[in-house]
Amino acid sequence: QAESRLFLIDAALLAGRLPRRGRFGHKGTYGHALLLLGSRGKIGAAVLATQACLRSGVGLLTVRTPAVGYDILQTSAPEAMALTDPAADFLSELPELTPYSAIGMGPGIDKADSTKVVLEQLLRTAQVPLVLDADALNLLGANPDLLALLPPDSILTPHPKEFERLSGSARDDYHRLELLREFCHKHRCYTVLKGAHTCLGTPTGELYFNTTGNPGMATGGSGDVLTGLLTALRAQHLSALDAALLGIYAHGRAGDLAARHTGEVGLIAGDLTRFIGPTLQELT
Ligand code: AMP
Ligand code: MG
Repeated sequence: QAESRLFLIDAALLAGRLPRRGRFGHKGTYGHALLLLGSRGKIGAAVLATQACLRSGVGLLTVRTPAVGYDILQTSAPEAMALTDPAADFLSELPELTPYSAIGMGPGIDKADSTKVVLEQLLRTAQVPLVLDADALNLLGANPDLLALLPPDSILTPHPKEFERLSGSARDDYHRLELLREFCHKHRCYTVLKGAHTCLGTPTGELYFNTTGNPGMATGGSGDVLTGLLTALRAQHLSALDAALLGIYAHGRAGDLAARHTGEVGLIAGDLTRFIGPTLQELT
């Protein structure tokens, strides 16, 4: 019976889940994402998540970084709007949220006290889908009371170390999957436990194992690309389940296509963003 709730994320499972772009679509049709990203020394993570989001079909993207990120963002991603935080080095204030259809937070943000406050305000006020990654997850792990504020159908994307901070340490891989099931049920969220075979847990107890990706993706910034991709899909009004399944698969597939050009050894996270487009095209 437990087995009947295990699935593989492959092309067959994804058929029909990614809508085609309509002939008369305009940028308002495809949503407006907000990404809360970066801190001094980690604006690169912000750039990677931004470029991935832009490559994933979102209509508009606004990026919030500390002031140190402004010139870098505007230069490296002119298609995104930069809405700079008043603080120089760390996120310190939550912007007005009304324009956005989905919000992602985490890559490069660090764990400053001011940033914890931003996360708490986000959890208390957001009315749209959330994607949380990296130090947004570490802040949740360090302040478990915040987990109770998580809006239903949020997507969390921990690697095993981040997941351990959220849910405690696992005895072995099987126990980790049990913890994943319990965590998703308790917090009514979708959790992407990242690794060689990324596993998606759902609030209703299913586990989905990914079939794409390669060890070339074990390189800094890979996860930041996934956050941008998932936020773009949520902003386009896909359900949390469809966005998570499509995003996980497309991220790994982009890595597989990229590795054909760079080899696994030479692969860097920025290469992934260039292959998101062809990958999403295959899926439509
Ligand atoms: P992060 O640790 O946040 O940068 O995330 C790393 C990303 O790379 C995740 O999406 C992982 O699933 C992916 N990744 C890392 N190592 C491997 C691997 N050996 N095979 C496939 N994907 C991997
Ligand atoms: Mg990461």
